[in-house]
Amino acid sequence: STALVWFRRDLRVHDHPPLRAALDAHDLVVPVFVLDDRLLLGRHASGSRTRFMLECLTDLRAALRQRGGDLVIARGTPEQELRKLASQCDATAVYFASDASPFAMRRDQRVEAALREVGVEPRRTPGNFVADIGKPKPYAVFTPFWRAWKELPRRELHGAPRVVPIPAQLRAGELPDLKLQDLVPDPLKGGETEGRKRMHAWLRDGIDTYAQHHDRVSGGTSMLSPYLHFGCISARELEAKAGRHDAYTRQLAWRDFYAHVLLHNPGNARHAYRKELDDIEWDGSDEHFDAWREGRTGYPIVDAGMRELKATGWMHNRARLITACFLVKDLHIDWRQGERHFMQLLLDGDEANNNGNWQWISSVGVDPAPVTRRLYNPMLQQERHDPEGTYVRRWVPELSDVPLNQLAKPWEAGHEAPIVDHAVERRRTLDAYAAARS
Ligand code: FAD
Repeated sequence: STALVWFRRDLRVHDHPPLRAALDAHDLVVPVFVLDDRLLLGRHASGSRTRFMLECLTDLRAALRQRGGDLVIARGTPEQELRKLASQCDATAVYFASDASPFAMRRDQRVEAALREVGVEPRRTPGNFVADIGKPKPYAVFTPFWRAWKELPRRELHGAPRVVPIPAQLRAGELPDLKLQDLVPDPLKGGETEGRKRMHAWLRDGIDTYAQHHDRVSGGTSMLSPYLHFGCISARELEAKAGRHDAYTRQLAWRDFYAHVLLHNPGNARHAYRKELDDIEWDGSDEHFDAWREGRTGYPIVDAGMRELKATGWMHNRARLITACFLVKDLHIDWRQGERHFMQLLLDGDEANNNGNWQWISSVGVDPAPVTRRLYNPMLQQERHDPEGTYVRRWVPELSDVPLNQLAKPWEAGHEAPIVDHAVERRRTLDAYAAARS
């Protein structure tokens, strides 16, 4: 018999549950990817992320061809395209990995119904997470989730298949030449080949010092997030290989946690988890939003982060925390505006992680803590996490002549004053949150 394997955010051949399950149960397997305009043009569309994805697809197709297979490229809605292809190939089942976002959940239900109508069996396998994110009871605080997560069973790991047998005369179609806009000039390269190379290099050379260095904005983390987002590497395999490095696997648990949170709270995609904080009075201005986006707030660490994002489509986690905190708590701009901007540029832009982290740093989401705990002083943050000034000097070159002891306050060395005064804005934020709560 023949089965389709519907690839989505799992663009790899190693440790791929749907591909493995289809190969185990069928003689012929048709790998397919559906370019869906709702994603390419929808509210989370991003030229840079689409380009990264096309590189992933080119690489995946090459890997499948090396194994005697191919990758069918369809364009349209998955419910129509999968039905059509299943009927052309006489397929009896469609295998795919589950996902957590409300959009993916609704789409998958539609696809399952459309397939069943024509007698084709949909088969969902676990998604690209370390553990089964649906399994633990709903959690809203990370640490107990993490404890439970560590005890959850792990699924079996699979190597890459040696052969992917496809029907004769399968018409695979070409990858389209999409007109992409707003591309970041210096992005990471997409694909499983690149992702595995980076994963192995990280496990060999980087992971040992992660616990000490992960908060240094100028380096010290794996930069694997875009490869995890598109499933070029398997989160399950990465955790198995990271083994005893608890500080690192804990971050993979955060990734599972936010998927778990969105799965159980689909309303979070548009609203604060803490209802009473959903409509704080946001009175920030468009001018300040533009200054933030373009990296010209006058606070060097904020500007460095925003410029790194604009140039590469990636930003260090500590810099994400500082820039996001600054937008919300120094500029008083709705976290959803920042979330949208990040989503446009980040190569790892991921609804569960982006939304979860924006809500966390804005003190409106799960895993609550007093507002003061997540109200960062950008100058102190810079001194702590960029102690040699390497990051700021790289991304804000106009400050290269400022001595290190003034680099967090360059206005004291004659550079322009920042757009707001942190001490004043901090007070206003505390008042606004207190008013919303009461
Ligand atoms: P490492 O430190 O090497 O961590 C390894 C992996 O663990 C990461 O690749 C990532 O998959 C996961 N991880 C690490 N930290 C977190 C975290 N806080 N939350 C969830 N997963 C984590 N991450 C995304 O993947 N997509 C996003 O859209 C995204 N948006 C964010 C927005 C804000 C405001 C903030 C503060 C954080 C966001 N993060 C997001 C989380 C985190 O910043 C990135 O995952 C991390 O910087 C990626 O770099 P890395 O691969 O070197 O991470």
